[in-house]
Amino acid sequence: MPYINGRLWDTRDRGKEDFQFTAVARPAATKDEAGKPYLESYGSKESDGSPVQLAVMCPATPLWQAKVRQTVLRLMNEYGTKGVYIDQIAAAAPVLCFDRGHGHPTGGGHWWTDSYNAMVEAIRREKPADRMLTTECNAEPYVKSLDGYLTGTGVATTRCRPFRPSTAGRSRCSAGRIAVAPRRTLLCE
Ligand SMILES: [Zn+2]
Repeated sequence: MPYINGRLWDTRDRGKEDFQFTAVARPAATKDEAGKPYLESYGSKESDGSPVQLAVMCPATPLWQAKVRQTVLRLMNEYGTKGVYIDQIAAAAPVLCFDRGHGHPTGGGHWWTDSYNAMVEAIRREKPADRMLTTECNAEPYVKSLDGYLTGTGVATTRCRPFRPSTAGRSRCSAGRIAVAPRRTLLCE
């Protein structure tokens, strides 16, 4: 199952060059109250040693909805993948986006989770029926639209119970674990 990121756009998206970020992506990036895009870095470096800066895209925008949908459908239809892992959707907290051009209420609200669910549901309508969509972590607002969660769970005691798998509803598959107990590793997911 191939990995894509469902949330970030590299601000220097062709080597060190700003290829499409400013020209295409920036209008659909999340913005703070000053109109500045929210940027994140995860430790990776550009070839000149500077940190890679990734813009958090706004899921309410048609551009980002279409980009993720088209990428997933291309992987399934052209490359025949049985599923796609869309990173970060159920792992990252919503961003307080103040860009009035995006059509959602400014700041917080359920528009963020509604937008991601709408994005995934649109993919579901177009994808082959036997393909699956998965994401990272376990945020409950998205259980209704995704097939699986890659859930790393820190396990430190022997008292873990399979609470989440038993309550996850449509999320039929929960996979992955981070075992931190030295010898008595548990199977919690
Ligand atoms: Zn926005």
